[in-house]
Amino acid sequence: MTAPNPAALGVIRHDWALPEVQALFALPLLDLLLHAQRVHREHHAPNTVQMSTLLSIKTGACPEDCAYCPQSVRYETGLEREALMEVAAVRERARRAKAAGATRFCMGAAYRSPKARELEVIAAMIREVRALGLQTCATLGMLTAEQARELKAAGLDYYNHNLDTSPEYYGEIITTRTYQDRLDTLEAVRAADLKVCCGGIVGMGESPADRAMLLLTLANLPEHPESVPINQLVAVEGTPLAGSAPLDPFEFVRAIAVARLLMPRAHVRLSAGRADMSDEMQALCFMAGANSVFYGEKLLTTGNPDVERDRRLFERLGLTAEALEGEAHAPQQPAPGEECACAHSRAHAETAA
Ligand code: SF4
Repeated sequence: MTAPNPAALGVIRHDWALPEVQALFALPLLDLLLHAQRVHREHHAPNTVQMSTLLSIKTGACPEDCAYCPQSVRYETGLEREALMEVAAVRERARRAKAAGATRFCMGAAYRSPKARELEVIAAMIREVRALGLQTCATLGMLTAEQARELKAAGLDYYNHNLDTSPEYYGEIITTRTYQDRLDTLEAVRAADLKVCCGGIVGMGESPADRAMLLLTLANLPEHPESVPINQLVAVEGTPLAGSAPLDPFEFVRAIAVARLLMPRAHVRLSAGRADMSDEMQALCFMAGANSVFYGEKLLTTGNPDVERDRRLFERLGLTAEALEGEAHAPQQPAPGEECACAHSRAHAETAA
C-alpha cells in the first residue's frame, strides 16, 4: 500500500488507484480525521450543513430486487404501498420542509424507470417545488437521455442515482439492473446538465476492498458528483439483508472521511442509518467531512431523527444551515404559526426585528 502524501490530499483527481484508496482507509483514525477536516475546510465553510428533505412521492411495489430495499415488490416487509402523490400534496410538504429549514427538496419514487405519464406529473411537482425557492432533486430509477432532458426543462437541479456498492459486490445485491445501467443513467443525467447526487450503502456484508472500490468508482467518474450520500444499511425485516451483522461504526466514519478526501468539493451526505446513530457518532461524521443531512419528514420508508433532535444537536455542535447561493442564510421565515426548526432561530428573530 502506498502511504498517502498529506500535501497532495485535497487535489481534485479522477485517476485514483485502489492501493491509494486502501492506504487512506488504513490510516490511524485520528490522522484520517485530521486530513479529512483540513481538506474539508479548504473547500467548504466550516461548521455548516446543507439540509435536504426527502419525500417518498410513490411508495413500494418496485419491480427491482435491491436486497436492502423494503420497497421491492419481491419482499414481504409490511410496507404500505402508495400511488404517485398529487401535485398539490407534494407542494404542501415542500412548503413545510422549507419552513422547517430545508434548502433542497428531494422527491423519491420507487420505479425501475418512470413512464411518460408519470414523468409529466413529476415535472409538474418539480415546477411547484422550485417556485417555492427550494432546490429540487429527484430519484426515480433509470433514466434515458430524453427523460433527463425533460426533468431539466421542468427545473430539476439534482438527480439521485446511487452506485450502491463496488462493481465486484454489486451482483450480490441487485440482479435486475446492471452496474453499467447505473453508469448509463449517470451519463444521461450529466449530459442533460443536471447535478449528480450519487453514493452508496455500507454495511451490506461487503469487504473493506468493496468500500474502497465504491468510493474510487465515484471519484473516478468524469466529474465528481456534487452530492455523495453515504448510507448505512438499515436492515429491514423481510428483506434479504435483514439480520446483517452491523458494521463497526468507525468503519462508517472512515468511509465518510475517505469520501471527503477523494471528492473534496462534493457535499458528503450522512444519509440512511442516521436515526440509529448517537449524537457523538454524528459529530464524528461531521468531523470526518460530512456536511449534508436529510432533515425532517421521513427518509423514504425508514425513520429519520426528528427535527427537534436535529435542532438540539446542531445547536450543541455549533453547526448552522448552509445558505443557498444569494441568500444570507438558508431557511426562510417560518409561516405564521410555524416554528422555524433551523439552528438560526435567534438570527431570524434578530433580522426580523
Ligand atoms: S432501491 Fe429503488 S430500484 Fe431498488 S427496489 Fe428499492 S425502490 Fe426499487
